[in-house]
Amino acid sequence: MELVDAPHSKCGTFGFVGSSPTAPTSLMKTYQRYPLTITKGRGSWIWDKKNQKYLDSVAGIATCTLGHSDKIIRRALIKQLKKIQHISNLYKIPEQEALGNWLVNNSCADKVFFCNSGAEANEAAIKLARKYGHKKLGINEPIILSAKESFHGRTLAAISATGQPKYHKGFEPMVKGFNFFDYNDWDSFLKLFESLGDKALDVAAILIEPIQGEGGVKPGSINFFKSLRNFCREKKILLIFDEVQTGMGRTGFLWGYQTLNIEPDVFTLAKGLGGGHAIGALLAKTSADIFEAGDHASTFGGNPFACKAGLTVGKEILRRNLLQNVKERGIQLHEGLIQITQEFPEHLKEVRGVGLMQGLVIDQESYLSSQEVINAALKEKLLVIAAGPKVIRMVPALTIKKHEIRELIKRLKATFSQLLH
Ligand code: PLP
Repeated sequence: MELVDAPHSKCGTFGFVGSSPTAPTSLMKTYQRYPLTITKGRGSWIWDKKNQKYLDSVAGIATCTLGHSDKIIRRALIKQLKKIQHISNLYKIPEQEALGNWLVNNSCADKVFFCNSGAEANEAAIKLARKYGHKKLGINEPIILSAKESFHGRTLAAISATGQPKYHKGFEPMVKGFNFFDYNDWDSFLKLFESLGDKALDVAAILIEPIQGEGGVKPGSINFFKSLRNFCREKKILLIFDEVQTGMGRTGFLWGYQTLNIEPDVFTLAKGLGGGHAIGALLAKTSADIFEAGDHASTFGGNPFACKAGLTVGKEILRRNLLQNVKERGIQLHEGLIQITQEFPEHLKEVRGVGLMQGLVIDQESYLSSQEVINAALKEKLLVIAAGPKVIRMVPALTIKKHEIRELIKRLKATFSQLLH
């Protein structure tokens, strides 16, 4: 490896030509990265810099909806770049109107606000809930109830709404006004509500994932969500779904709420919406559409390029009948994972998930950790991710094919054989 002078002497270090896991980097240490440099992707496959091919069940963490470098999205975006890339929200943006129309025509929502990520969409939802509390319910200090083990993103309000203390540590004080109940547990919800005493009157909204993603791939219980829906209607408080991971077809339905047979008042999107391009959205029914001019904004939110990506993804999901593919491939993946648990019953406990959002749960008693499995899978040329220390998560592209799921199961089996035999 050749040493060269760092461009700025103030760095007090050397730059390296070439790379190694120990090479200094200019990037902050926010990510613990795997020793893999990805240089190319097609469909559900990616290549590293040595041109080795891997099967990708991560898809940019539930993001590359149409797979990597999809021909249709590529063409649409090149065309868009030749037209216009970015203009301010001070002017009308036809691509934004078109994506907004597509979203409201295909969901229970009536209005949309665009931003750039999941955390931002949830920030917007939290602001909307507070404004709703102030304006419609006459609350001075609105409270939002959220679930333990939830994940809503990394901005300060989003980590405050996230029911996992590990994300709060070192960043206290949290934004106030959040209280937590056990996911899928109606008794716990009622107990929390009653424990608030007079403050129960200050609850303006419930923020919840229809399937908990980062918290361990836990599908919502239909009965629990039905009770939540009725409760919110009775108390006139907002039911807000975080559909950042579940939205845009991941569950075999366009929206996660369809798996629960209820409609939220508000929901948020990001990840799969842009098919790999940065975009987030806050969607609301008319009854919750209370933002006024100046209440919220985003410089890049809803720019023509991102909206063209979102619209192309949405149209392609429907044109290619991808929801059916997600349902079929989801069942195939689920059944294949169950087979793996049966081969290694002392280590693998259960399979959880809906559609192409599946989690393989490692027994608490097993010495195996998610990280060990991910590293071993890399050796089998397979990308999987964790949803906590004991759950392996698979969220491949919605375009994944039957033979690719077969290959995924084969490589995952080989991963466990490598670790356990
Ligand atoms: N909400 C949920 C349910 C998520 O899974 C995530 C990301 O994993 C987020 C919010 C945050 O999204 P982003 O990383 O785009 O800010």
